[in-house]
Amino acid sequence: MSDSPTPSQAPAPRPAPGQLTFTAPRRGKPPRHLADLSLEERREVAAALGHPAYRATQLSTHYFERLVDRPEDMTDLPKAVRDDLVADLLPPLLTSVRSLTADRGATIKQVWRLFDGALVESVLMRYPKRVTVCISSQAGCGMNCPFCATGQEGLTRNMSAGEIVEQVVAAARLLRRGELPEIGDALDGAGLGDESEDGADAVASDAAAAGPSRVSNVVFMGMGEALANYKAAIGAIRRLTEPAPSGLGISARGITMSTVGLVPGIDRLTAEGIPVTLALSLHAPDDELRDELVPINTRWKVDEALDAAYRYHEATGRRVSIEYALIRDINDQAWRADLLGQKLRQRGRGWVHVNPIPLNPTPGSKWTASRRGVEQQFVERLRAHGIPTTVRDTRGSDIDGACGQLAAATSGAPERG
Ligand code: SAH
Repeated sequence: MSDSPTPSQAPAPRPAPGQLTFTAPRRGKPPRHLADLSLEERREVAAALGHPAYRATQLSTHYFERLVDRPEDMTDLPKAVRDDLVADLLPPLLTSVRSLTADRGATIKQVWRLFDGALVESVLMRYPKRVTVCISSQAGCGMNCPFCATGQEGLTRNMSAGEIVEQVVAAARLLRRGELPEIGDALDGAGLGDESEDGADAVASDAAAAGPSRVSNVVFMGMGEALANYKAAIGAIRRLTEPAPSGLGISARGITMSTVGLVPGIDRLTAEGIPVTLALSLHAPDDELRDELVPINTRWKVDEALDAAYRYHEATGRRVSIEYALIRDINDQAWRADLLGQKLRQRGRGWVHVNPIPLNPTPGSKWTASRRGVEQQFVERLRAHGIPTTVRDTRGSDIDGACGQLAAATSGAPERG
C-alpha cells in the first residue's frame, strides 16, 4: 500500500471562486459490488457467473445482516467457490487510512482510500439514543461553497452506490464487533467541545449509556453533493433502507439527504416517494448573499429552492430541515433572521425547522462563527416567527470531523488513532 499519488490519482484542480462543476471527471470505475445492485440483479449476476442464484442471497446476508467480510466466515458457501464469489460480488471498496477519535470516544472520523487512491471521510457519532453516520457521496465536491473545506478541493469523482453504502456497513461492523472505545475512556483526552447543551444530544457519559449498537441514522453531510451524483445516491438510499438481505434495513426517516439546493434533484427525489429527511443548505435568505455563499444560487434562487423543499414536504409529509451556518457579521444579522422567518412562514406552518450551525472555520478562512449572543438572537427571532429552531451540535470539530471540515487531502501519513 503506497501513499504517493500516481498521476491518475491527482486531485482535481482547485476551482475559481463561484465556479460550479456538475460533471465528474471520468475515471476508472470502482469494482462492481453487490451493494450497487438490487437483490434481483445480484441473483442474475450470480447465475451469469455459473452459480445458483441463491448464492447472491447468501452473500447479501453475510454483508448486510451478519456484517462479516472474511470469506472464511461464510461457511454456508462451498469452499471451492467462496473466494470467487467474494471477488465477484464483495470486492473491498474502502481501505482505512486513519481513524481519529474525539468527544471522549463518542465521535470517530475515518479516512478511507478508494480503489483509485481517492480519499473520502465518514464520521460515526454515538449518542445515548441514536447512532449517526455522516457519509460522503463524492470524492471532493463541485459546488464550491467558499466556507466549506471540501468545496475548496474541487470534484475528484463520483462515488459508486457500493462505496457510499460501505461507509455505513463499516460503521455497523465496528458497532457490532464492539471495536469502539468506551465512551468517556478515550485516551486522547479530547474534550467535549462546546456542544451538548441539548440534552438529547449530550455525549453519553458512561458505558451503560453508550447508546444503541446499530446505526439508526445516516446523514449525507460528508464530502460531496449527493444530488449531483443522483443515481448512486438513490441506489445507496435503497440499499440503506431495504430490509436484509436486500439492504441494511435502516428507517428512511433516519436518513437525511442534504443539498445545496439542486432544484431538479430535489424534484426527482420527491418523485421517488422514499420518506427520507431533506435538508436544504440555505445559509442566506437573500439572493445577493447566497449567490456568494452557495454558488448554485446563481442557477436556482432562494425562492426556487424553498419552493422545491416545500413540494418535498407536501409529497412526503416529512418536515424539511434548513441548514444555516452562522458566520460572524456575514449572514447572522437580525434582519436576515426575520427575512428567513418570513419566507418560511409564508409557505406554511409546521413544514420546516431551522438548524443553525456555528461555522467551523476551515484553515485559512477569513470567516468565523457568530458570537454567542448573536447566535441566540438569531434563534429567538426565528422562533418568534413560529419556526422551530435548534442549534446543531459540533461533534468532532477538534479532529476536523465537523460539518464542512472534511477535506481528505489534508490528512497526513497513515496511522490508526
Ligand atoms: N453538499 C451537501 C452536503 C454538505 S455538508 C450540502 O451542501 O448540503 C453538510 C452541511 O455542512 C451543509 O449544510 C454545509 O453547508 C455545511 N457546512 C459546510 N461547511 C461548513 C462549515 N465550515 N461550518 C459549518 N457548516 C458547514
